[in-house]
Amino acid sequence: MQHSMPRTLFEKIWDDHVVDELGNGLCLIHIDRHFLHELSGSAALMNLDKAARKVRNRELTFATLDHVLETTPGRGMATRIPGGNDFLREMTARVVAHEIRFFDLDDPRQGIVHVIAPELGVVLPGMTFICGDSHTCTVGAVGAFAWGVGSSDSEHALATQVVIASRPKTMRVNLEGALRDGVTAKDVILALIGRYGVDGGSGYAVEFAGSVVDDMQMSGRFTLCNMAVEFGGRTGLIAPDETTFAYLKAGEFSPKGGAWDAAVSYWRMLPSDPNAVYDLELTLDCSTLDPQVTWGITPEQVGGLRDPVPVHARRTTSVGRASYARAIEYSGVTPNMPVLGLPIDGAFIGSCTNSRLDDLRAAAAILKGRKVASGVKAICTPGSTSVKRAAEAEGIDLIFVAAGFEWRESGCSLCASGSAGGESFAFGGRVIASTNRNFEDRMGTSVKAHLASPQTVAASAVLGRIADVRELEAAG
Ligand code: SF4
Repeated sequence: MQHSMPRTLFEKIWDDHVVDELGNGLCLIHIDRHFLHELSGSAALMNLDKAARKVRNRELTFATLDHVLETTPGRGMATRIPGGNDFLREMTARVVAHEIRFFDLDDPRQGIVHVIAPELGVVLPGMTFICGDSHTCTVGAVGAFAWGVGSSDSEHALATQVVIASRPKTMRVNLEGALRDGVTAKDVILALIGRYGVDGGSGYAVEFAGSVVDDMQMSGRFTLCNMAVEFGGRTGLIAPDETTFAYLKAGEFSPKGGAWDAAVSYWRMLPSDPNAVYDLELTLDCSTLDPQVTWGITPEQVGGLRDPVPVHARRTTSVGRASYARAIEYSGVTPNMPVLGLPIDGAFIGSCTNSRLDDLRAAAAILKGRKVASGVKAICTPGSTSVKRAAEAEGIDLIFVAAGFEWRESGCSLCASGSAGGESFAFGGRVIASTNRNFEDRMGTSVKAHLASPQTVAASAVLGRIADVRELEAAG
């Protein structure tokens, strides 16, 4: 279809995937790729089997194990999450029965679904992509419309390769300015959420753009889009460019030969047209940002490392005030106190937010020749088995281990297990983590989690307190 009106990246993808308009703002959308993991995937497959339906497009459907898997070296047991074995067993039996492509425990392609989908070239620019997980938006960084669905939508897509969806509004977030030393994609997205709140992107497909994004490697772009859902967005996405194409080229499922060239020609037409209009545009000057760290129990309760805990709730509603009071109480902080210097009991580098090779390289550069402070339990779980192997080939594992970190197998690890009754940090401890959610009890009962970049986590692990990586660098 010819389009005379300038369109945004999101509108181009949406228009290409509408199968039918159902009224009331709902459309039937074709799904190009569908990824399953053992929690939501096993439920979707079970219901599909109960209804005696078949998987319509096996070649568009992929599955892995990540959420409940044990990550201790060698994985002596498959899981220690109560009930976790049921999910693993169900998932394995049903994907095998349906002949779905499956990256099992021992498969070198196994990993956190949002890390492996782009790594393998399963998700590509211009595609629609779903998974039963809220951080599916991560992979929008390749220029796809990717969003998390419930298990009933997942079941629907298994049976029909379409889902019913409402069209989100479009937002462009312009991230401008040169980042200061020590400031990363994680700090940028935390600062954005701190400025506009956890519902700042509510109802929108949020496109990240601007000079900061242009200069960013894919690892940083995934971090931005990963936390689009913490910003309230339906999804995050980034226009594909040469950086995207170079990243995707080696993917096992990326097109090859002439098909690759044809795909790139199509992908080059995806970025928003020059005069495309967004429903909302925001601009964040990133040149003045410091490394960020959360102080409370939502990602919007965040500030620069050297900022004190705020004196007032950022929201004046009674709900906002109650949330602020609860955050102060739960986090064991007081208004006006500095977050920098708070002693920590744990440090975690992993999760779909920050566990890619660049993240591990950056943390290793800080840990090299240094030791984790006494009394700090420090854990690193690479985002995929492939990331783990690549890191090991560079000797990054040896740096982590020499520093006193546990070097784990790939999976969601404490990001999922802490709230699921599995492995967690010690009761009531204070932890700094490269993850995306600092909710109450997320990493263990009464555990206070502070979100930060892998660099800030590494520096804090070494100093035994929430630290600014620039302190370590200045000290040499
Ligand atoms: S790493 Fe954490 S946030 Fe990401 S998919 Fe796993 S449990 Fe969810």
